[in-house]
Amino acid sequence: MSSLLWMWVWLAVVWAGPTTQHITGRDDVRSHGLDCSTDPCAAVLPGAVRFDGVEGKPYAAGYDAADAVVGWVVLSTDVTDVKAYSGKPVITLVGLDREGNVAGAQVVHHSEPILLVGIPEQELHDFVSAHVGFRADDKVVLGGGAEDAHSVDAISGATVTVLAETRTIMETARQVAEDVGVISVQAAVPGHFVEDEPWSWEEMLDEGALGHLRVTQDEMGLEPDPEGRPFIDLYFAIADAPQVGIPLLGEGTWKWAVGELGEGEHLFVLFNTGSYSFKGSGFVRGGIFDRFKLEQGLRTLSFRDMDYTKLSSPDAEGAPEFWEGGLFIARDAQLDPGLRFDLVFLGSSYALDRGAFERDFKSFSVDHRTPRSVYVLDGPDPESMIWRQAWAQGWPKALFVGLYLFAVALLFVFRGWMTARMQRLKNLHTVFAFMSFLVLGLALHVQPSVTQVMTFFGSLGGDWDWGLFLSDPVLFVSWIGLAITSILWGRGVFCGWVCPFGAMAELQFKLGRLLKLPNLELPDAVHDKLKYLRYLVAAGLVVTFLFDAELGERLAEVEPFKSTFFVPIWTRHPGLIVWWLLLFSSSFTTYRPFCRYLCPLGAALAVPSSVRLSGPYRRDFCSKCKICTRGCEPRAIRPDGTIDPRECLNCWECEVNYGDDKVCPPLVKIRRDRERAAK
Ligand code: SF4
Ligand code: SF4
Repeated sequence: MSSLLWMWVWLAVVWAGPTTQHITGRDDVRSHGLDCSTDPCAAVLPGAVRFDGVEGKPYAAGYDAADAVVGWVVLSTDVTDVKAYSGKPVITLVGLDREGNVAGAQVVHHSEPILLVGIPEQELHDFVSAHVGFRADDKVVLGGGAEDAHSVDAISGATVTVLAETRTIMETARQVAEDVGVISVQAAVPGHFVEDEPWSWEEMLDEGALGHLRVTQDEMGLEPDPEGRPFIDLYFAIADAPQVGIPLLGEGTWKWAVGELGEGEHLFVLFNTGSYSFKGSGFVRGGIFDRFKLEQGLRTLSFRDMDYTKLSSPDAEGAPEFWEGGLFIARDAQLDPGLRFDLVFLGSSYALDRGAFERDFKSFSVDHRTPRSVYVLDGPDPESMIWRQAWAQGWPKALFVGLYLFAVALLFVFRGWMTARMQRLKNLHTVFAFMSFLVLGLALHVQPSVTQVMTFFGSLGGDWDWGLFLSDPVLFVSWIGLAITSILWGRGVFCGWVCPFGAMAELQFKLGRLLKLPNLELPDAVHDKLKYLRYLVAAGLVVTFLFDAELGERLAEVEPFKSTFFVPIWTRHPGLIVWWLLLFSSSFTTYRPFCRYLCPLGAALAVPSSVRLSGPYRRDFCSKCKICTRGCEPRAIRPDGTIDPRECLNCWECEVNYGDDKVCPPLVKIRRDRERAAK
């Protein structure tokens, strides 16, 4: 009954009020952009008493009491898209002063699991404040070690989050500083074009050298085209390199065009097979191409007629026929070929809706990055920098966790030795429980959480990013290890031997036995139903997270991990303290109550355990004998003697009995027969 009581306490706590100190309140911030009437603009731009939007720009200018501009304020997500560990950006308000220095920064919203699971928010605030005073084009590194860069202290256990946040602040500041002209425009990372033999159309597609934007008639709200063409069908590329430029322009035109390029200028090529022109019927000589533009951060690049040369269909082997093509010069270092950029197309159905008086404009965009086989960066790639830096710093801890998992796996592989004697097995199990609790949990804070499972499912719905998966070395190693061992032996490898919270509960129960505390177990009828509760909790959390990430994250406080290993319990919400105390105290008298009835992570790991490749050995006779059943604390042995792999915590004690001719009845009989025969 006490389990039901726990559940009600938890629900009451979660619904009653603030369960986390999670910075929040601006879920809509990306769609609505900056609003200094609600955003704390003054806090990130000291001296400013009034803010005014800058026309056509996503940032606002701040004015002092004398009405002079003291700097600018911008929301990071309006100018850059740096994904942090959650796969979502840490939305940060950044202030920039007139000298091009970061005047202030404040996190407005984040969904970082590590901060939700364990790190106090204040540490993130302090980290963000450490960037104040850095010039927008300065280099910043975590933890020091570079002479030409500022160093800021990382937050232990949240390396990926803080790497992403540093990049967010500095990239945001740089973009605004370039745009307002307080620092000069430059390539974020210098690089050079690679030269190769001309490619076929197919090769260009395979290499990712061509970007593609297709808009259907239906997407424009129009009737199908009589010839079956889409509204617009654009292929585009940066064509400075010969393997791309020659097949698209022809050798003569490419050589001439490259010869015309000045410093910081690049060739941009666009072809179209849609029914609508990228030029537009209103295009006049000397005018601007207003139906498409390139966007790279805050830089917007529109092309003029003087930058344009008409092209016929490309000669590239296997290329389709295009009725419209153009070569454009991207001038003034406005296009950095090493970075991702957007092709933005503005379609208007007015020209096709004859007689209509209102034009229907719709904007479409696609992002593109020139592949490394065409353009190579001379420095680290900003898109992979976060996880590379995370590995450079986090590999020792990841190695330790990997070796620890490997040691457990080795014991399982050679379990014949381990299960030869009950005392040996029990001693090893206790040693590993202490190590998991003290070293993995208290010292290293390596406690996987259901928030990572929720983040994984959330990422599947959006842009799955391997960089994100790789970005936290310890979690990466832990999850790879968990996946492999769960398939081989079931969830018991982790839950029975590695999980710091599970290890703590195991040790508490052992202590309870030593102190001769009562052993409180639920009746079979209740236990058999309640053991499914954790699946409901896990499914409920994932579904809630998919619809409302913030609520899902709040409900995930059902896991007591944060209060146990990351944040001092006395600093938590009173309801969470009660919840933790209930779980903690009951673990002395009931065997791992949270693990068996509530843990959503245990439930997630139990699902693949159903098909584990190896479990404890059983005999037909086990259906009649109850010796192992009585000794199995997780109650994983069914009445028919078989084992439920989702409940089994791989203590292997039943396997010791299986081989013990003083315990297992068939073996006892064989031994006695043998002894009698010998006599
Ligand atoms: S059930 Fe949950 S708390 Fe228990 S050992 Fe498994 S993961 Fe850890
Ligand atoms: S005694 Fe129970 S928990 Fe331990 S290995 Fe056997 S079935 Fe699994």
